[in-house]
Amino acid sequence: MSLEKYRQKRNFLISPEPHGAAQVASARKQRLRFVVQKHRATQLHYDFRLEFSGVLLSWAVPKGPCLDPSVKRLAMQVEDHPLEYGGFEGVIPEGEYGAGTVMVWDCGDWVPEVDDVGEALEKGDLKFTLYGKKLRGSWVLVRTRGWGSSAPGKSWLLIKHRDKYASTIDIVTQKPRSAISRRLLAQIARDNGGDVAKAATGDPPKLPPQPRIKAVHPLNEKKTKS
Ligand code: MN
Repeated sequence: MSLEKYRQKRNFLISPEPHGAAQVASARKQRLRFVVQKHRATQLHYDFRLEFSGVLLSWAVPKGPCLDPSVKRLAMQVEDHPLEYGGFEGVIPEGEYGAGTVMVWDCGDWVPEVDDVGEALEKGDLKFTLYGKKLRGSWVLVRTRGWGSSAPGKSWLLIKHRDKYASTIDIVTQKPRSAISRRLLAQIARDNGGDVAKAATGDPPKLPPQPRIKAVHPLNEKKTKS
């Protein structure tokens, strides 16, 4: 686990993303954090991050997590990120790596369902429980053979296990707001001098205005009901 690749890709004089502390005193705390960041970059995706060994293991999930156990979501493993990244919500400037708006879509603690996380990662089968604001219950990340040879060993699937938190609710559409600020992507972009129009394309489409329901006068109530 190292932040070398993470730092190589970024210019911290320009981007507000964290550089990452030299090294966090490992195992100082037993709670492991997880975060899902909604990222309106070139393509909209959700960055799924699990704290482990002083960094955030990271996967880019194009369609975002799904609560339906029959749905497998592609998760491309990307470079480890610093722990502080989990609190980053804002705008990565145009021209920088990952340029676009970032939202903390969900966060909380995670607990491995295996004795040895390192071994599970090596094996390509990591089972875990999430205690987030939106994502809860048992999940698994399984490595696949992947498509093509562009990123061998980097292709995983994120799958919900069957438990009381499994659901057919489309969580990414139903819960589009930031878990820490309640903002939508467009609002985050506006507050940080980002591209509001581009960010808004990652938010759910605005609902058409509801037709006005005529207030019924109590005296007319009978008439209306019949
Ligand atoms: Mn990303």
